[in-house]
Amino acid sequence: QSAKPGGDTIFGKIIRGEIKTDFLYEDEQCVAFNDIAPQAPVHFLVVPKKPIVKLSDAQDADEQVSGHLLIVARKVAKDRGLNKGFRVIINDGAHGGQSVYHIHIHVTGGRQMGWPPG
Ligand code: 5GP
Repeated sequence: QSAKPGGDTIFGKIIRGEIKTDFLYEDEQCVAFNDIAPQAPVHFLVVPKKPIVKLSDAQDADEQVSGHLLIVARKVAKDRGLNKGFRVIINDGAHGGQSVYHIHIHVTGGRQMGWPPG
């Protein structure tokens, strides 16, 4: 993991304000912002300020922040009017399709989601 607060990925730059991004939500532990390439009418990301690389690297000590991300996801989903439900996704590593190696939760909604995701 990186020595820089927030980490060295594009999400670290967003968290540190080096890339200007409107936050839908921010607290001492995490931020939420819209995905730059939305896959649904609503598509935002919930990202911890701690630069955990990926879910498979998360430690027992990350249990509290991991749960916090889910609670923030549902708060922001409610704020965004996703009253008919939504989908939460974490892509992990190569096979999981992860492209930014700073753990994040995708929240998508605003249309009917299909299953399986492929
Ligand atoms: P992953 O594939 O790692 O699960 O998801 C990374 C997500 O970050 C992608 O959905 C991608 O569109 C989004 N993303 C990548 N770069 C940026 C950026 O600079 N700003 C924002 N808002 N989203 C980004």
